[in-house]
Amino acid sequence: MFRSTLVTRRNHVYRALCGQRFVSSTTTTHRQSGQVAAAQDLPISEDILYKEDHIHLRESLRKLIHAEINPFVDLWEAEGLFPAHTVFKKLGEAGFLGVTKPKEYGGLGLDYSYSVAVAEELGSIKCGGIPMAIGVQTDMTTPALAKFGSDKLKKEFLAPSILGEFVSCLGVSEVGSGSDVASIETRAEARGDDLIINGGKMWTTNGTQADWMCLLANTNTGPPHKSKSLMCLPMDLPGVHITKKIDKLGMWSSDTAQVFFEDVRVPRSHIIGEEGMGFTYQMLQFQEERLWGTAAAILPMQKLIAETIQYTRERKAFGQPILNNQTVHFTLAELETEVELLRALLYRSVLLYIQGNDVTKLASMCKLKAGRLARELTDKCLQFWGGMGFTSQVLVSRFYRDFRLLSIGGGADEVMLSIICKYMDTLPRPPKRP
Ligand SMILES: Cc1cc2nc3c(=O)[nH]c(=O)nc-3n(C[C@H](O)[C@H](O)[C@H](O)COP(=O)(O)OP(=O)(O)OC[C@H]3O[C@@H](n4cnc5c(N)ncnc54)[C@H](O)[C@@H]3O)c2cc1C
Repeated sequence: MFRSTLVTRRNHVYRALCGQRFVSSTTTTHRQSGQVAAAQDLPISEDILYKEDHIHLRESLRKLIHAEINPFVDLWEAEGLFPAHTVFKKLGEAGFLGVTKPKEYGGLGLDYSYSVAVAEELGSIKCGGIPMAIGVQTDMTTPALAKFGSDKLKKEFLAPSILGEFVSCLGVSEVGSGSDVASIETRAEARGDDLIINGGKMWTTNGTQADWMCLLANTNTGPPHKSKSLMCLPMDLPGVHITKKIDKLGMWSSDTAQVFFEDVRVPRSHIIGEEGMGFTYQMLQFQEERLWGTAAAILPMQKLIAETIQYTRERKAFGQPILNNQTVHFTLAELETEVELLRALLYRSVLLYIQGNDVTKLASMCKLKAGRLARELTDKCLQFWGGMGFTSQVLVSRFYRDFRLLSIGGGADEVMLSIICKYMDTLPRPPKRP
């Protein structure tokens, strides 16, 4: 069963990667000057990072999004939940949940630039919540498992996640510890061949729907950076309580849960890689999360600029299109420039990453800039929509809410600045005691 599904799925993606085009040629034609592309049809072009295969992959994903996701986004946003299993199954069968994962577990074994191509194209989904939920599965819960997990764990958790049969969630943040990951209190104490888990996790994306959690917990009482392990925790075990679904400012279609553990027993073999290395693995996993988050923000930002141009060109005030005011077209030009700068920083970071470099500093810069720019851009564009911008009928107001998270989730701006300062060697050291 596992093998035959795998072969079918590989063939599907193989077709995409071998140049079979899935979308009409209009998506790749260039815009005439003065013409605004329909927002959903922003062209995908070759770049320093993307070659033909990346473009085919993106075109194929874009087609799936337009057919299977975007028609339902408004409904799922209103319901405060999207059906993760249904959507992930479609993405998994088409190969989009494991582009960088090893082939023996159903992945495509491609380099990280393909994951960034997928993340960027997920930006054509008409909200922030669903891309985030997908990113949790592909770039937040599974990178450490794929790199360091045992064969048994990979068969049990990674392979079905790549196929979209399983939904995963990430259990790092807690009620009392978010930015300061080293201070988490959830414990997984060894008892024979098992671990007994007590504690709880907060802000768990996909938490109400997930089949398993990539959990960070303390497995010993040593120094904070060596006391933690990452582990695969099935969510249907006795003692796992999903206590509430949290109401939020934005990201409405993505469920966010608080999870509580009461004497949850899991085999010790569920630890990913080496016991006590969880903090280090999680920091490595964060690199991909931050690059992914940046990539997923680019298309919506471009789309909002394009839609704002279109709207302000048509809308008139004081006898002329609003776009004709210099403050409007100059602001949009500034924002377009900023998006291009962010894209250049992202692509440089990814190119260095796939060459095997530590890009912690650059990934932190990407995340910092993406968060700040997304806030500035949604705010400035919304302003030019006037009262319309304040309604829930337009994309700009949804992204104004959804993108507020970028400066907080996955490490707040201030945490990114601290990491950058660490690499610049400008962080003050604790004073020496006399
Ligand atoms: C919608 C949503 C989804 C999420 N999904 C997940 C998930 O799936 N899994 C998961 O584990 N977590 C998840 N998170 C948690 C997220 O990563 C944390 O919210 C984030 O790391 C910040 O932690 P905190 O909320 O505890 O803020 P705190 O740590 O309480 O920080 C509050 C503020 O203090 C400031 N601050 C913090 N440290 C410093 C510093 N060193 N210097 C200066 N200022 C500082 C910052 O402005 C920060 O925003 C999610 C959060 C949200 C809101």
